[in-house]
Amino acid sequence: MTGASGTAGSVVEAAPADSGPSAGDWAAAESLLRNNISPEARVLLVCHVNPDGDALGSMLGFALGLQRLGVRRMQATFPGPPEVPVPLQGLPGLDLLVPATEAYPAPDLVICFDAASESRLGELVDRLDTAGASLVLDHHASNTHFGEVNLVDPYAAATSVVAEQLLTRLGVGLDAGIAECLYVALTTDTGSFRFEATTPAVHQLAARLLATGIRPGDISRRVFDTRPFGAVRLFGEVLGRARLEPVAAGGRGLVWTWATLDDLVRHDQRPYVLEALIDSVRCTAEADVSCVLKQAAPGEWAVSLRSKGAVDVSRVALALGGGGHRFAAGFTGRGTAEEVVDRIRGQLDAAVIPSAGS
Ligand code: AMP
Ligand code: MN
Ligand code: MN
Repeated sequence: MTGASGTAGSVVEAAPADSGPSAGDWAAAESLLRNNISPEARVLLVCHVNPDGDALGSMLGFALGLQRLGVRRMQATFPGPPEVPVPLQGLPGLDLLVPATEAYPAPDLVICFDAASESRLGELVDRLDTAGASLVLDHHASNTHFGEVNLVDPYAAATSVVAEQLLTRLGVGLDAGIAECLYVALTTDTGSFRFEATTPAVHQLAARLLATGIRPGDISRRVFDTRPFGAVRLFGEVLGRARLEPVAAGGRGLVWTWATLDDLVRHDQRPYVLEALIDSVRCTAEADVSCVLKQAAPGEWAVSLRSKGAVDVSRVALALGGGGHRFAAGFTGRGTAEEVVDRIRGQLDAAVIPSAGS
């Protein structure tokens, strides 16, 4: 990944946009926080809409750290309905969560977690203007640096990696509560240490987290390996209608399926259960690209895209109004499922990574 874009221009060019935070960024973040570490300062922590393990885990882990530093007036929140997915309901620090409607209208400091752009903050986006200061912690290469200070590290496996580094700089050591939050975040975004971003540093962080005494078996079972029987049957139905298109993406192949609101009703399930579906679909040996369309409203779909390495699906998602990482991305699609998939097909050829071989 390093230096891939460094062929043009002179050697005195600024660091590429996708390099990690500079020493100045870290110093600025640290001083922003130190200015707001007091019992009086109101600190608002926000993560992206439809929060996953990294969004909630990095936010709550960081919140618990700030609490240890003496921040007393603190809220954590996310846009949309204040519903925490059941697998994440065991996270420490959940008592700090408030519905978006109750979030401080003008906090002294707002800190955003795991959101690549302002659009991921939904109705809370105005806090970037009303807050005294704003800080962004993230790891999406496409991050638009929408904060006053931005700690964006595209090489970090999860936002929780950035959060832990900042906590260390602030002198906050790990305790079991913080560690459990950061561990959930790290395992979520690395696919339990299976994805390419699983560097030695990731395992070293995992070791530090585990050393606090947290129980990885219990955590993984709760977060990844538990679902209601109704969801098991719903998965059976949705996987049973998956379609394989071997010629898509220049012959790399596409596999896709969809789940409707009616499917959820028939099986008496909440939408969060569908988040795990992509992990079953992406196993398909005959396809590099996998896709799940989850109906959010009539004619509206939350689309998940994954690639095994031959296709940059963030390009597809960005072209269709969303974003994400090279091999895991998403967007909101409108129309019928077939129409949305047609738009995806139209973007796939251009997103094949040239160096990925045939
Ligand atoms: P998901 O398929 O929902 O697990 O999302 C995979 C990746 O794509 C994550 O990094 C998300 O942040 C990103 N992503 C998903 N949906 C959207 C969206 N509507 N807009 C921007 N990024 C998205
Ligand atoms: Mn996320
Ligand atoms: Mn993340």
